[in-house]
Amino acid sequence: MIPVTTLKGKKVALFGLGGSGLATARALVAGGAEVTAWDDNPDSAAKAAAEGIAVADLRTIAWNSLSVFVLSPGVPLTHPKPHWTVDLAHAAGVEIIGDVELFVRERRAHAPDCPFIAITGTNGKSTTTALIAHILQSSGRDTQLGGNIGTAVLTLDPPKAGRFYVVECSSYQIDLAPTLDPSAGILLNLTPDHLDRHGTMQHYADIKERLVAGSDVAVVGVDDSYSSLIADRVERAGGKVMRISRRHALADGLYAEGSRIMQASSGAASEIADLDGIQTLRGGHNAQNAAAAIAACLAVGVSADEIRAGLTSFPGLKHRMQPVGRRGRVVFVNDSKATNADAAAPALSSYENIYWIAGGLPKEGGIASLAPLFSRITKAYLIGEAAPAFAATLGDRVPYEISGTLERAVAHAAADADGDEHEAAAVMLSPACASFDQYKNFEVRGDAFVSHVAAIDGVTMLIGSAAGGK
Ligand code: ADP
Repeated sequence: MIPVTTLKGKKVALFGLGGSGLATARALVAGGAEVTAWDDNPDSAAKAAAEGIAVADLRTIAWNSLSVFVLSPGVPLTHPKPHWTVDLAHAAGVEIIGDVELFVRERRAHAPDCPFIAITGTNGKSTTTALIAHILQSSGRDTQLGGNIGTAVLTLDPPKAGRFYVVECSSYQIDLAPTLDPSAGILLNLTPDHLDRHGTMQHYADIKERLVAGSDVAVVGVDDSYSSLIADRVERAGGKVMRISRRHALADGLYAEGSRIMQASSGAASEIADLDGIQTLRGGHNAQNAAAAIAACLAVGVSADEIRAGLTSFPGLKHRMQPVGRRGRVVFVNDSKATNADAAAPALSSYENIYWIAGGLPKEGGIASLAPLFSRITKAYLIGEAAPAFAATLGDRVPYEISGTLERAVAHAAADADGDEHEAAAVMLSPACASFDQYKNFEVRGDAFVSHVAAIDGVTMLIGSAAGGK
């Protein structure tokens, strides 16, 4: 845990005791702050009270006496409308911050030189965060991985010289971190997402910009127009910018040329890494993630050799295009995280000769948007409630069967792929649907896929039981 010493003896209110909120309350108490915490959910409030954290309805406290108000990133700061606690804080002129802000203040107070990489973007955050942490860890560095990826940042070990932090930041966390100052900050990409919580695309982009604007080195994916403008702006303001492109060559920065990641300076380029054969980093989207990870690692002093070694041994993240088993030419891929058509597109783009397991609880729009990728699918195995609708979309463009259950789909797909004459085939769960009709969540669905794959005769598993993390 990182005790929050910067608020020692100060009065602090905190709202939101689920997830990272409780960890934040503990860290504040451990550092000597006088904390009053609250949550609308009585169970969460009771749990905190049972630990000795002071719990009180924040409508009843003296806001004027507070040094700061700590808000959970899950609670609306601005959209669709400010939470009632936010209104109270504004009325009393109390600063509103989140756990990432508390972390950066601790780092500045105790070990301002310890390398800190922060990652944001619309897509690829967790993959890039995990990849960077893996590169650092496998090079023998003391590495702390946390933030939006699932480990609350204040549960990490305290900042000290030589310790590296890799922190995934959602836009909500950035919005609550006014002095975010990473050694290297990554903005991967920006596409419309979560606009219900941010209002407009411009507001969403402005928040994301803050992460790179405050960085010593700003690593920015410039393939979308919002991010590209941000890179220009940060540079004009005097910031050091490393541009990343998965789509075109750059005079300065890192870009993908097929599977090769090129490093360019003043128009001269050379290869820094080749992702060819790295199963966990297939596809153009992962070239973007890997190039950004490489840039950030270079920025904090990791050598090219150490980076290449880390890329090669990256185990991938669970449930995200994760190769989990192999039988001869056939690889079994768990992409259970793909809960809508957009999310399934990168996996379908990254393989050919696909035996595609899809379906579950359908989302609006179905799989019509995936039509340009249908030629990669040899046969589809449809499960869950979405099966009839997906069958109608596939029509006579892709052979399919209604398998019903995941178990039957895996067995049938494995048997069909086995008889296939191509050089390589992929049996892939990339459902383009939520899981709730048949499973508790996408993780349970992905784990079920893995156990069905493991039960097939002659399959060699590529993962241990805990492989991939998250
Ligand atoms: P996030 O943490 O931002 O949600 P993840 O790394 O968990 O992202 O990846 C989630 C899914 O997003 C992946 O399974 C893949 O389909 C897609 N994805 C990953 N990286 C990118 C990228 N750079 N650009 C577009 N889509 C991506």
